[in-house]
Amino acid sequence: MNISITKTTAPKAKPDWHTLKFGNTFTDHMFMMDYEEGRGWHDARIVPYQNISLDPASCVFHYAVEIFEGMKAYYGVDGKIRLFRPEMNANRMNRSGARLCMPEFPVADFMQALKTLVELEKDWIPTLPDTSLYIRPVMIATEPHLGVSISKSYLFYIMLSPVGAYYPEGLNPVKIFVEDEYVRAVKGGTGFTKCGGNYAASLIGQKKAHDLGYSQVLWLDGEHHQYIDEVGTMNVMFKINGEVVTPELTGAILPGVTRDSVIHMLKSWGMKVTERRISLEELHRAAADGSLEEAFGTGTAAVISPIGNLDIAGHSYTVGDGGIGQLSQKLYDSLTGIQWGKLKDEFGWTVEL
Ligand SMILES: *Cc1c(COP(=O)(O)O)cnc(C)c1O
Repeated sequence: MNISITKTTAPKAKPDWHTLKFGNTFTDHMFMMDYEEGRGWHDARIVPYQNISLDPASCVFHYAVEIFEGMKAYYGVDGKIRLFRPEMNANRMNRSGARLCMPEFPVADFMQALKTLVELEKDWIPTLPDTSLYIRPVMIATEPHLGVSISKSYLFYIMLSPVGAYYPEGLNPVKIFVEDEYVRAVKGGTGFTKCGGNYAASLIGQKKAHDLGYSQVLWLDGEHHQYIDEVGTMNVMFKINGEVVTPELTGAILPGVTRDSVIHMLKSWGMKVTERRISLEELHRAAADGSLEEAFGTGTAAVISPIGNLDIAGHSYTVGDGGIGQLSQKLYDSLTGIQWGKLKDEFGWTVEL
C-alpha cells in the first residue's frame, strides 16, 4: 500500500503531559482511506488532523454504521516504542465490520497505516511513567442514502491521542452497581463488536450508576438478566476459592485483548482459569461466604481495574479487604511491565516500531 503524506504547516503546541485527561488531546496528523464498491480501498493518506465533511444523508448519521478500535503505543523505559498485540485489534475490527456488513480492511494495511502514523507522530508519545498514546481506528459508512441498506462507500481513519497515567495515585478500587433493568447486549446482537451503537445504548446505565453514587455498571445478560456479562466497558474476572473465573464469550461479550492476555498470563503462572457462565446468584453467595477473594475489570485503558465494593440485592459487600488484591496488582505490574519494556516479553506480544 502506498501512503501519501501531507505534513501540517502549523504543528500544535504539545500539551502539559502531567495533566492530560483521557481523549481530549489529538496529535497533528491522521490516517485516512476511502472505500467505494467496485473499486475497493484506495487513496491511503496521512494528512493534518482535520474536520471531516460528509453529506448529511450519510449512512453513519442515521443508522449508526460505525465501528472502532482502541489500542495504545507505549514509550518504553529503554526508549523503544511498542504496540501491544495490534493484529488482534485489526482482526477484531474486521469481525465487527462483518457483523455490520462493512468491508474488510486488510490486516497488513492496518498494520502499515498504524506503524507509519505512530512513527510520524512519535514526539506525541508521552514519556512520563504510566502514560501512553491512545490509538483510535474508526470505520464509517458514508453513502448519502436514506434507505436502510448496505452502504456502497466508507471512510477508514486512525486518530491518536496522548493519555496520562490512568492511576496517578496507584490502582484505585471501584464501587460497582449491578444493573438489572437495562442491558448492554444480547446474544445474536452486536455485543461482540466495537460498534458505536453499543455505547450509545449503554450511556443510560452508566448515568444511573453515577447518579446512585457508583463508578461502574455490572452488566447482566440480556436474556435472563441473571448471568454476568461485563463491567462498564471492560471484561470482568473473579477470583473465587483460588480459581479465576470469567464469563465465556457468548457473542454478547466483547472479546478483549486484555482479557485474552490475562487468561494466558494466569495459565502460564499455573493458575486455574475457567471461562463459563457466572450467575449473579453465584457471585452473591461467594461474596456473602467470603470465597470471593478478588474481582477486577480488564481493558486497554485501565489494564486492570480492581473492584472494591459490590452491592447485590440490597447487600453491600466489600471484596477482599476493599483494597487492591494481590493478584490484581501482580497482573497489572506484569502486563504494564511488558508494555513499557520493563519486563521481558516472553509471550511475544509486543511489536516494536
Ligand atoms: C474495548 C472493550 C473491552 C476491552 O477490550 P480490550 O481489547 O481489552 O481493550 C471490553 N468490553 C467492552 C464493551 C469494550 O468496548
